[in-house]
Amino acid sequence: MSVASVIHSETDFDVRKIREDFPILKQQVHGKPLVYLDNAATSQKPQVVIDAITRYYTLENSNIHRGVHYLSSQATMAYENTRTILKDFLNAASEKEILFVRGTTEGINLVAQSYGRTFFKEGDEIIISAMEHHSNIVPWQIVCEQTGAKLRIIPMNERGELLPDAYEKLFTPRTKFVSIVHVSNSLGTINPVKEMIAMAHCYGVPVLLDGAQAVQHLTVDVRELDCDFYVFSGHKIYGPTGVGVLYAKQELLEKMPPYQGGGDMIRSVTFEKTTFNELPYKFEAGTPNIVGGISMTAGIRYLQSIGIEAIGAYEHELLEYGTEVLSSIRGLRLIGTAKNKTGILSFVLDNVHPHDVGTFLDVEGIAIRTGHHCTQPVMQFFKVPATSRASLAMYNTKEEIDILADAIKKVMKVFS
Ligand code: PLP
Repeated sequence: MSVASVIHSETDFDVRKIREDFPILKQQVHGKPLVYLDNAATSQKPQVVIDAITRYYTLENSNIHRGVHYLSSQATMAYENTRTILKDFLNAASEKEILFVRGTTEGINLVAQSYGRTFFKEGDEIIISAMEHHSNIVPWQIVCEQTGAKLRIIPMNERGELLPDAYEKLFTPRTKFVSIVHVSNSLGTINPVKEMIAMAHCYGVPVLLDGAQAVQHLTVDVRELDCDFYVFSGHKIYGPTGVGVLYAKQELLEKMPPYQGGGDMIRSVTFEKTTFNELPYKFEAGTPNIVGGISMTAGIRYLQSIGIEAIGAYEHELLEYGTEVLSSIRGLRLIGTAKNKTGILSFVLDNVHPHDVGTFLDVEGIAIRTGHHCTQPVMQFFKVPATSRASLAMYNTKEEIDILADAIKKVMKVFS
């Protein structure tokens, strides 16, 4: 019997119907129904996204912005329409504030190299937090090397929550930038970003939010948050890999130099001088991931058709259930117990290495992630080499959490 056929949700949320939209979930792995709990690494794709990719290559494929022929104008229209959908999705003020990038990583590197390299100087300070993904640490370390700026780190407590008083104390006249994760990928913590942005703005400091783990679970309104930059990846929000979004306030983008040079980002080129295109194209050199942009927004529209609030509420119910079930397993310690969390269940087992847990669970058809989750400083803080992480999405069920818990108990028995 497949997992989908035994689902009886207590809420109105029709998870059985949602699962039908994700063809990959119907398969068996090692002879067991697939239990996919690795959603923080990448989410599965609904049929509408797969169809958008097929439709693009079947009917629309052409390079954009340059051609006068029918296919090129169709592809340009479809691609630029996605920018409008993304503007509305984030409630940005204008399409000029929506840049297509390869993903969260490239978005942060763009800001570090364009904004940071231009405006940071020797002795300046950049604030990040103790729970950042490596992609929100390393780009800032590189720009520190280049400019002589220094990193300052917001500490966290044992639950995996940032300390607001310590954050405020980090501000000095030398503070030039704050870059923090909206939702932690290894702990699930939802940071109080609105308050943190307001505090930074009191000191005149711009803020970037890494939204890679937030946009698929929470409503994000960049104008309400008043963040200066917001980045996320398409593949974690039910879209394809290789495409993502950088939102930035127009007034900042106007002041920033291009990140890369090439076609599309120019107005005119001579050997003596190049002038740059208007926003947002100034930051989009070369042929972009056209099919990626178009199919990413198919995923976002799918998510909106279900309702982000309904998804968040359902996932929260799963999180509470999962927390209760896993906490009751003797020898299991949850890592990341913040009061305000999304559906991340990171854990360690007494005397069992996380890689053994992952390998054992795989045989049971269960996909989780084990390792440092690109947050080595978080592992160092909790004094663990790695964790096992089950991460939830809208198509997961309580039955799947029960399957996970039973498999963990089996692992404990085998290794005891
Ligand atoms: N930031 C966070 C919080 C993440 O979870 C991830 C990916 O796991 C990234 C950044 C990097 O995203 P990508 O590899 O899609 O660029």
